[in-house]
Amino acid sequence: MHFPDYTVQQPDLDATRTAYESLHQRLNSATSGADCLPVIADWDRLLCEFKEWSNLTYIRFHQDTQNEDYIAARKTVDEITPKFTDLETSFKQALLDSPFRDEIAAATAPQLFAKWECNTRSFAPVIEDDLAAEAKLESEYTALIASAQIDFDGETMTLSELRQFADDADRDKRESACRANSQWYTDNAPTLDRIYDEQVRLRHGMAQKLGYDKFTELGYQRMTRIGYGPEEVATFREEIRKEVVPLAAELAEMQRQTIGTDSLKFWDNAVYSLKGNPRPLGDHDWMIDRATEMFNAMGHGLDTFFDEVKSRGVMDLKSRKGKAGGGFCEFLHLYKFPFIYANFNGTRGDVDVFTHEVGHAFQSYSSRNQPHSDIVWPTTEACEIHSMGLEFLTWPHMDKFYGEEAADELRRIHLMSSLQFLPYGVSIDHFQHMVYEKPEATPEERNAMWQEIEAMYLPWYQYDDLPAESSGRLWQQKQHIYNCPFYYIDYCLALTGALQFWSKSRTDPSEAMESYAALCKLGGSKPYSGLLESAGLQSPFRNGCLTEIIKDARDFLS
Ligand code: ZN
Repeated sequence: MHFPDYTVQQPDLDATRTAYESLHQRLNSATSGADCLPVIADWDRLLCEFKEWSNLTYIRFHQDTQNEDYIAARKTVDEITPKFTDLETSFKQALLDSPFRDEIAAATAPQLFAKWECNTRSFAPVIEDDLAAEAKLESEYTALIASAQIDFDGETMTLSELRQFADDADRDKRESACRANSQWYTDNAPTLDRIYDEQVRLRHGMAQKLGYDKFTELGYQRMTRIGYGPEEVATFREEIRKEVVPLAAELAEMQRQTIGTDSLKFWDNAVYSLKGNPRPLGDHDWMIDRATEMFNAMGHGLDTFFDEVKSRGVMDLKSRKGKAGGGFCEFLHLYKFPFIYANFNGTRGDVDVFTHEVGHAFQSYSSRNQPHSDIVWPTTEACEIHSMGLEFLTWPHMDKFYGEEAADELRRIHLMSSLQFLPYGVSIDHFQHMVYEKPEATPEERNAMWQEIEAMYLPWYQYDDLPAESSGRLWQQKQHIYNCPFYYIDYCLALTGALQFWSKSRTDPSEAMESYAALCKLGGSKPYSGLLESAGLQSPFRNGCLTEIIKDARDFLS
């Protein structure tokens, strides 16, 4: 079915309750693990009906945040999701307590039980109302950001549209776009402060109701972090501080020399070329044609997959007013196909976000037949390996989008900006650890925490008098801080994996592609460490995990 016509019914809560009663009865009367398997399959169908409705509602709302029907549907999802979570969690608990647990795990995947353990530890009916309130605040942030209407250069623009000037060749234009962006965040600072303050207190309260000391512990369970905790993540951040921050600062100095300015201001950070960064040579439709050629050349299933993406119409990539910002990919379990979302604005970011989201989409499609919907996706730190990995594996085809000469430049820029991203990414993570450690902090104290972190990881940032950034408010522009606590480190963890694919592809491109496609097929059937191992990737929690990559990167960039 053509995706734009695809609709699903809202699941009926009472009918779902009755269905769960029957599932519990069948599970209780099972006399073997084999008896449990059809019960789990029927349960999965019920889960998928809910996920399908929730995911599709999320997609439609993002496509048009001003549509009254979508706003209402999104509100309904936010309100009733905790009721469904309650039913799901008690069934997961019943499976965890089952005398046939080991047999079921052997017939499906032990990783399912590890995930369900995290799920049961992060939910109890006592927090149902708090979860609904939390979702409401998240929607409020998304809607506020999407509502921005900024007068710039004789036009009214969204924040996403304004971002196209971040790497404009005209320095004055970059600076004024950056100031317009900063002014919008300053004007909206009271609301942004209020939303986050309420979120932090609400999350801390939920943690306490569930018996945790701080939200961080609950946050890790909610992220289904299996096999590692805040200590390992702190070690990784420290590795970045020691190994990558000095290199990132050197790269910033290289940038300054290339663009020939006295100093590298914040509005120069995204610019790596005197002519402005290379931009794709055509519009949306032209890019889709180039992408088709690229995936045909890459094979390994990407070719047929992308044909189906186009024939089903499962992409929404153009920017428009009222459409929520950002890029994402959702998998629709009943439709058996992923959906890809982005906001093209004519910059190199379009190619990045496109290859990134296709990476997610290809992985979820490759693993769609895993024995349970909960392991179609890996946990998110592993998910981002597939997306960021594909950004690097598509390197040999960048000439299609940029022309040959600009493609060489583009590859350098991609690598430089990825290395500079690592310190930024860990600062977003470190900030959240500090915030949830001291939930009673005032908004001003949070801004001071951010400034302390910036000094540690981002010493080359120069804001001058930009109102939002110079007062410690850069973090408010990162939607993950509001909407997905503790998610952001995943990009850094995964990038160390993706960079290993990059390194591998330099010496043996076909082996790199093969091992990438095999990793995609595994989906979420193993924990993060198990997936890394199967793909022959080093763990980021090992000391020296970045040494080889940095050597290779220096070699490439020299
Ligand atoms: Zn991603």
